[in-house]
Amino acid sequence: MAQDGFLPYPEGFATDAIHHSHDPENWKSKSLAPPIETSANYKHSAPGVFEKYEYTRTGNPTRDILQDVLAKLDNAKYALAFSSGMGAISAVTFGLLSSGDHAIIGDDVYGGTNRLFSEILPRFIIETTFADLTELTNLEKAIKPNTKLIWLETPTNPTMKITDIRGAAAIAKKHHITLAVDNTFLTPYLQRPLDLGADLAMYSISKYMNGHSDVIMGSIATNNDVIYTKLKFVQNAMGIIPGPFDCYQVNRGLKTLALRMEKHKANSRLVGKFLEGHPKVEKVLHPGLPSHPQHELFKSQTSGDSGTFSMYLRGGLKESEAFLKAVTVFTLAGSLGGYQSLIELPCKMSHASVEPEMRKHLGISENLIRLSIGLEDPEHLIADLDQAFKKMEE
Ligand SMILES: *Cc1c(COP(=O)(O)O)cnc(C)c1O
Repeated sequence: MAQDGFLPYPEGFATDAIHHSHDPENWKSKSLAPPIETSANYKHSAPGVFEKYEYTRTGNPTRDILQDVLAKLDNAKYALAFSSGMGAISAVTFGLLSSGDHAIIGDDVYGGTNRLFSEILPRFIIETTFADLTELTNLEKAIKPNTKLIWLETPTNPTMKITDIRGAAAIAKKHHITLAVDNTFLTPYLQRPLDLGADLAMYSISKYMNGHSDVIMGSIATNNDVIYTKLKFVQNAMGIIPGPFDCYQVNRGLKTLALRMEKHKANSRLVGKFLEGHPKVEKVLHPGLPSHPQHELFKSQTSGDSGTFSMYLRGGLKESEAFLKAVTVFTLAGSLGGYQSLIELPCKMSHASVEPEMRKHLGISENLIRLSIGLEDPEHLIADLDQAFKKMEE
């Protein structure tokens, strides 16, 4: 179904999230909820005879059900689950890169991703160039003969800039470079990087995918047999696996992903519009609103916007702190994508580890506030922000 110039929603998404790989005939008890298999190891029928499962680090039935659903939701052949989003990114870098290789990465990616590429990879002689990938000419310019990986996030965090995934994929293909897209902010319900030409889509499952702020997990989806084989090898060899209980929880969370994303989107547009009209707000950075400078590009590659966006308050640190102290329905906390609304100050919280010079360059100033709009009643969210603006003055 097409909607306001955005891409149509992925067909059958909600049905797949609920039914794919969930036939009760697949397990002995025929339970509707898939069983949680907690065993670390499995009985062999004879020495040296390989069966489907032998040891849970290598393979586990509950994890397999989740991975099947994750692959289906990204329209992918394969998906792998990891112990965290950073675990998934580590699998990509250590599974696909070797000493002497070069990687290109967006200059305002998630702080942990930045730390891995800038502080850990150099120890293994893997070089990284940070570039503003929202301009594809910067991507072309950064490519070297030994470039093996391009890593990007769109929208970026916290300034919500958009990179043209189809354009980046064409460049990557031309130079035989793997293109990885961190799709945490939108989920496959709203953006499908593989369909747009990326080689792999990565998620911090800890955010919208699980959606209940009670699991840390990551995942990768891909159609590429070579990438899958290398990442599966690393998942087992480095031991970066999630436990069966967490796999069960996440699989349960996915059953309501489409429903939740619809509500995040509707709530976040209402709150965004309210903030746009408020005299204490200088600017709202929301890709789902027509005021966003890349709104048309955003619409051309997504089925909608999620609950995460940012705004510049009028004022500086003093005003930001007074505002954040005054909210009561919103919770002052980092992270995003849960059912409850969160609000934070990137310069002091999520992006405190970014060099001050770089923060200034990226526009992460003391009046930039990031919001993760949850599933509450929108009128309560708006009333909360409204009273916080009033209280700021006292
Ligand atoms: C949270 C996050 C990560 C890291 O995921 P963890 O599950 O916290 O390890 C990576 N990328 C983005 C965009 C994130 O928001």
